[in-house]
Amino acid sequence: MDEITLAKNTEICKNCKNVVVGKGNLKAEILFVGEAPGRNEDEQGLPFVGAAGKNLDKLLASVGLSLDNIYVTNILKCRPPENREPLPEEVKAHTPWLMRQIREMKPKVICSLGNHATKFFLSGCNPEDMDKQPGITSVHGKVRVIEVDGMKIRLIPLFHPAAIIYNQKLKIEWEKDMDIVKKEISQKSLF
Ligand code: URA
Repeated sequence: MDEITLAKNTEICKNCKNVVVGKGNLKAEILFVGEAPGRNEDEQGLPFVGAAGKNLDKLLASVGLSLDNIYVTNILKCRPPENREPLPEEVKAHTPWLMRQIREMKPKVICSLGNHATKFFLSGCNPEDMDKQPGITSVHGKVRVIEVDGMKIRLIPLFHPAAIIYNQKLKIEWEKDMDIVKKEISQKSLF
């Protein structure tokens, strides 16, 4: 079974309005990975179009990025009911599609948004090992080089843009992390 069929066979994909694959430029060097579509994303078939998306838009503008020079996707391509957390079996069924996107795009930088995306990459893209990874609070803003299918990629873990909406303290951290993103992407040669 191919990666897309595997994901589409999950209950969340059978019950959602739209499968949310991603948005932006697949030829870009920077990939943002969130958790899962919410209600607005499910309605529109696009990632990060609700309140969290507004924060992400501000972040991108503040570091001079637009959908021309990034691609945005999620760990899960379909909305879990009531926006519950992704189940381990859903992560297992949906991340092969994410890996296929990464193989095709070959990004130089991945910004992982929140715990799920960050733990996926820190685990070496092995959903079985995600539980053993540190949480976003201790790793946000710490750049590291990861290897994905033989490609060296700079991983920048960031708080999830939804988490900062009502949390002033996280907002301050998020703004500091934006400086790190800016610095990383301004390096002419990333490797
Ligand atoms: N939160 C996410 O993680 N992804 C979206 O696409 C929207 C909200």
